Amino acid sequence: MKESPARKIQDYQVFGEFGEVNPSVSDGATFTFMTAEKMGELFHQEVEGCFLYSRHLNPSDFYLGQTLAAMEGTDTAQVMGSGMGAITSTLMQLVHTGDEIISSRTIYGGSYAFMKNFLPKFGVSTQFVDIKNLKQIENAINEKTKVIYCETISNPLLELSDIPELRKLADKYNLKLVVDNTFTPMIFAPYKLGAHIVVYSLTKFANGMNDAVAGAVCSDHDFIASLRNVNDGAAMLLGPVLDPIRASMILKNLHTLHVRIKQHSSNAMFIAENLEKLGLKVFYPGLPSYAQYKLHKSLMSERYGFGGMITLDAKEQETATALMEKMQEEKVGYFAVSLGFYKSLFSSPGSSTSSEIPVEEQNAMGMTPGLVRISIGLDDDIEETLERIKKSLKYVNLI
Ligand SMILES: *Cc1c(COP(=O)(O)O)cnc(C)c1O
Repeated sequence: MKESPARKIQDYQVFGEFGEVNPSVSDGATFTFMTAEKMGELFHQEVEGCFLYSRHLNPSDFYLGQTLAAMEGTDTAQVMGSGMGAITSTLMQLVHTGDEIISSRTIYGGSYAFMKNFLPKFGVSTQFVDIKNLKQIENAINEKTKVIYCETISNPLLELSDIPELRKLADKYNLKLVVDNTFTPMIFAPYKLGAHIVVYSLTKFANGMNDAVAGAVCSDHDFIASLRNVNDGAAMLLGPVLDPIRASMILKNLHTLHVRIKQHSSNAMFIAENLEKLGLKVFYPGLPSYAQYKLHKSLMSERYGFGGMITLDAKEQETATALMEKMQEEKVGYFAVSLGFYKSLFSSPGSSTSSEIPVEEQNAMGMTPGLVRISIGLDDDIEETLERIKKSLKYVNLI
């Protein structure tokens, strides 16, 4: 177990200025220099332990980045002010006018909207594909293609990307493979599986407290240095910096991530199995009925389980809405977007997080209007939670 991501986080030690067990919080937007020569040097290259200006890098963001890099197995990482800050900076860094991206069509709505509506302003177009269909992806690749973009487990249908196979394609055509691992930290190690760049919304499981918005990009030294470059780096020039106070809070929460992920996973497994037994249509990677069950098992790190996300098909949108209102009333959790929180959160993807995706395309992806996405919380008494969900299901006549 020496290689476990939790052990890597635990072994990354930084102390505070006076030996505090947590590193001191960086409280300066800028940094002093003893000599003009040293400052000049820092404008040209990164110098270990030296900081120039907080938007470029600050100690608290650096510690969080190094911890995430240790977890992921990358050289280093850049933390960002949001998951979207991480995703947009990464893509803007990788593409130029005239380039093309090939992206999974079942991705986070904001990422989809960025590629579909925003990047064309800069002459960058995106082909959206079924990420499970490697033949379709290979056919879509042309001389303009620069990037393959996907999520390890996609939002909201929980489809799995075969990262090792995607990497083979990327190598064949000299493309960069970018993977969003927001749903499955620790469960999957996309960099080790073959991604060149791993992006995160830390807002979700990684932080887990729903008190901060943050993101990260984990990759090799060269790519992260290019993001931070004072002349042409997207992180430096677009400015999605993470506040150091938030960074220091998130760093502390990362140390409990493995405990939380295991609890999210075992709770979700229990709920998913029982909902399926009731005859409901449930999408959960831990169920043998899950379409990519074998592939999931072969790529995952089993000690962390199958994750905290369940999607339930309530058939009609009205039923889905009534179910969520009732579940909130029964204190199952909150009717809210987002995920990876200590309490359960539920929303209906078609009308919320995936609403950026046109309805015809939602249908083509198999996203029906009655889907309810549940991010299962850390509930101690999950049997009681199941009873409350059952009561809500009966109330809307689903069982
Ligand atoms: C929430 C989310 C994002 C965006 O992250 P923010 O921190 O809200 O900017 C990106 N990808 C996935 C998979 C997400 O769930």
